[in-house]
Amino acid sequence: MIDEIAAETGPGCPACGRAGVTASTHGSAEGTVGYARCGCGRWLVVLAGRVIGFTMG
Ligand SMILES: [Zn+2]
Repeated sequence: MIDEIAAETGPGCPACGRAGVTASTHGSAEGTVGYARCGCGRWLVVLAGRVIGFTMG
């Protein structure tokens, strides 16, 4: 579940700026969607290389 949507998308965690470790990816009509675990404990939702959301983990 996504609790917050990043106001600005970027390649790293919106909360701490670190890049997450990709856990899984799958294709969608809008591009490759991935889920990455950040070092701060949050899950990042990545679409086509951009973080579009994260959990409060
Ligand atoms: Zn983080």
